[in-house]
Amino acid sequence: MIKLVDQSIEQLANLDFQCFCGQHHQVSIGDICIGSGILKDLPEILSQYKGKKVLLVADKNTYEVAGQRVMDLIKNEFSISRFIYQDDHLVADAKSLGALLMEIEDDTSIILTVGSGTLNDIARFVSAKTRVPYAIVATAPSMDGYASVVSPLIRNGVKTTFPGVYPIAIIGDTQIMKEAPMHMLQAGLGDVLGKYTGLADWRMSKILDLERNERYCDNISHLVESAVDKCMDAAPKLSQRSEDTTQAIMEALILSGLCIGLAGHSRPASGSEHQVSHYIEMKFLQEGIDTKWLHGNKVGVATLAILEAYKYLFSKDIEDIKSSGKYREFDKDRWVKRIERCYGNMSKQILDLKEKELLLEEIERENRMKLIEEKWEDIKANCYLNLPSPGQLKGLLKDAGAIYSPKELGVDREEFKDSLMVAKEIRNRYGIMQLLDDLGLLEEAAEYVVNKYY
Ligand SMILES: [Zn+2]
Ligand SMILES: [Zn+2]
Repeated sequence: MIKLVDQSIEQLANLDFQCFCGQHHQVSIGDICIGSGILKDLPEILSQYKGKKVLLVADKNTYEVAGQRVMDLIKNEFSISRFIYQDDHLVADAKSLGALLMEIEDDTSIILTVGSGTLNDIARFVSAKTRVPYAIVATAPSMDGYASVVSPLIRNGVKTTFPGVYPIAIIGDTQIMKEAPMHMLQAGLGDVLGKYTGLADWRMSKILDLERNERYCDNISHLVESAVDKCMDAAPKLSQRSEDTTQAIMEALILSGLCIGLAGHSRPASGSEHQVSHYIEMKFLQEGIDTKWLHGNKVGVATLAILEAYKYLFSKDIEDIKSSGKYREFDKDRWVKRIERCYGNMSKQILDLKEKELLLEEIERENRMKLIEEKWEDIKANCYLNLPSPGQLKGLLKDAGAIYSPKELGVDREEFKDSLMVAKEIRNRYGIMQLLDDLGLLEEAAEYVVNKYY
């Protein structure tokens, strides 16, 4: 029986096995090469493409950081064409995708991308559409999309997830990545730390078993957790740009991407903290706010807030929660108004999705209360007690020089409170914020959390 925590990252890249959780897990990425000075192995990694046409894709920054070196390494044995984005702020939208598509010649054998989040998203989508494989030379450990099979792209101003393909190789040279802009390193750390609350939500959903057939896997969950623990230990040296820390973060990011593939859904890598972060990203996009903060910086901030929400919940006694009777109250009109105010023209779609999930009848609310009461100790032991405390996480983010407050993101009090209350409405995925809502505690929990910052 394969125990995932015992596998090296190279072994994890290609797996096909029957798991003790009852599911069959499969993933195939090809090569994952992370290490100090690993870039020099690039000709070897790409050996099957020798003599063939390589399209090197970068932007002006990543070209300078590593693209030129990649060119020098492979120019003698490969036929290379280049496409370098000149944008100051590259976005994965129709314009950037189209620009790359126009540059691909028919005889291109592989797209070799040098970059991180956006360039990777662009290459993955174009690779899927053109069926030309791609490989990525990572310039920053900034997000968990390297080993992902989907691309988040901007369509008509809205972030939408499109199917993509796995890269045939991920090359992460820690000597290069450690020199990435500091907020990118911190973003990687933030995205990793978010796995704690993501896993807690996943376990909660499994325990309550409300999502018929929640495909939970302890094997995967422990793998992600151990990778995140390593980052927790390594984080204090982030501000010194330690190669070991860079490696730990990159490995955890790749692992969580892989685990999405193994699980067949994103639970191992994202929970309430990602929903809050996505809500903020959506608002920024709508309001045309340009910010240097990346996905992972927002996830770091949101993770701390979700940890506060967990702490708030478990500072209470389930008997007291029950006897207060607040769980019986649910004001549907207020709920609808809030969604309309927060989601604007997306609200109809959300109301359609969520309306049938609402617990409006007294008996339904009683039953949900009863279920939570029954599972309370189980949830506490398996979801809450193994989480870092908010104080611990805040200390860690501070030590790493990372932002931890929504204020630093540029989010005001009302918007942040909204994010805590409505981010969960975007889909049916059970987590801490829905549980608070079921107990009639959502608004007071949101107030409690928001008061920590404003
Ligand atoms: Zn499993
Ligand atoms: Zn993420």
